[in-house]
Amino acid sequence: MLKFLLLIGVIAAAYYGYKYYGRWQEAQEAARQKQAEAEAEAARLHRQQAGQPPAAPAGSSNAAAEMGGEDMVACPGCGTYRPVGAKGPCETPGCPTTKA
Ligand SMILES: [Zn+2]
Repeated sequence: MLKFLLLIGVIAAAYYGYKYYGRWQEAQEAARQKQAEAEAEAARLHRQQAGQPPAAPAGSSNAAAEMGGEDMVACPGCGTYRPVGAKGPCETPGCPTTKA
């Protein structure tokens, strides 16, 4: 009988030890994943601060972005966007303000 109880004790110890070990492994894995996510986030923020935004979705660009982010104003004659500080007549072919 004592041997039987001992066997139960050993099995129980092994079972709970295994369970505890599994939980410990899960915790380790979760911590690893959390750190990897934090590193990815930090890298993303670093890229943003360096002025290199993550790939913008296609079709989201506009005239100002294509012209390097300058302040743009629409030509009163043809509506073509030009830099605010642009001097001289609009050079867009067919624009009414162009002096031929
Ligand atoms: Zn124009």
